[in-house]
Amino acid sequence: MNAPCFSSDYRQARSRFRQAATRAGAQLYSYAVQSKSDHDLTVDVAIIGEGYERALVITSGVHGVEGFFGSALQLAMLQQQVETLQQLQIKIVLVHAVNPYGFAQLRRFNEDNVDLNRNFLLAEERYSGAPAGYRRLNDFLNPQSPPSFELFRLKALWNIWRFGLEALKESVAGGQYDYPEGIFYGGSQACQSSVLVQRHIDSWVGQSESLLHLDLHTGLGAYGSYKLLLSDEIDSPNYRWFADTYGDEIVEPLAATGGTAYSVSGHFGSWMRDHFKQRDYRFAGAEFGTYGVIRVLASIRAENRAYHYDKSGNRAAARELLECFCPADSAWRESVLSAALGVVKRGCSAL
Ligand SMILES: [Zn+2]
Repeated sequence: MNAPCFSSDYRQARSRFRQAATRAGAQLYSYAVQSKSDHDLTVDVAIIGEGYERALVITSGVHGVEGFFGSALQLAMLQQQVETLQQLQIKIVLVHAVNPYGFAQLRRFNEDNVDLNRNFLLAEERYSGAPAGYRRLNDFLNPQSPPSFELFRLKALWNIWRFGLEALKESVAGGQYDYPEGIFYGGSQACQSSVLVQRHIDSWVGQSESLLHLDLHTGLGAYGSYKLLLSDEIDSPNYRWFADTYGDEIVEPLAATGGTAYSVSGHFGSWMRDHFKQRDYRFAGAEFGTYGVIRVLASIRAENRAYHYDKSGNRAAARELLECFCPADSAWRESVLSAALGVVKRGCSAL
């Protein structure tokens, strides 16, 4: 039974993570994240096993609300997999709630309305610009008024018909730096969580030369299924390694046409890959599917709209967002969690 690993809110998730990590003999670190409305937010890191050549890094909650699933997997790992990984001599690094504000507030974005997975720009990249497609759709994506009754589905289908789903996914969700209150905003500088990860990642990982990093996400793909999204070229050794380990049908390049994902700027994994280019570093965004693209996009848009323009504290939009990124359905929870434990196990055996 894995469903009980899902917590009901951020604080419960964090306290269970800390307790399980302590029980498993982990070194535990907490890093404060400041926000105007909540003064008890932390990124927590549990590390088990020193001096090993290989390390497994599991990051959760880069997209706030998606942390419900990520935290559940990290808890299940602490309860079920520590011994096996120790026998394999693999160091475990679990980073809990990279975006604690979004996790606590049921948001995908952080305390600065930033999508952290668009915030990890490389040194030569600039925090400015937006795809032309996003500019065209800005009024539709980010209405500057409180939520009201409207035919969202019809409007979305109209835009899909006009621009095509592929172009729409890429230009809408790929990241933008010009609309601070908009969805998929990548920020104007590196955010607290990004700086924190960039500052401490070397000390968390230590000397391990061979690294497998899985960044946990939900909300993309078919209900209850999963994909490993890679930023590597399709003919690279890393891509081959994932395909050989998990099967060709499970792995997908981030920018595949007709696929689950879309290419993004300021991507966490791309920054990490660049940072660890001297090591044997492998990264995948593990995406566990929930509902269809239109429902998920509608929930992101409605929650963002309510967050900025509905001062009555309308929580209905946040609850729908939560359902879209962590369905209450216990069959979904059971099945994604056991699949994810399998992904970890298989990856570690192949590492
Ligand atoms: Zn995500």
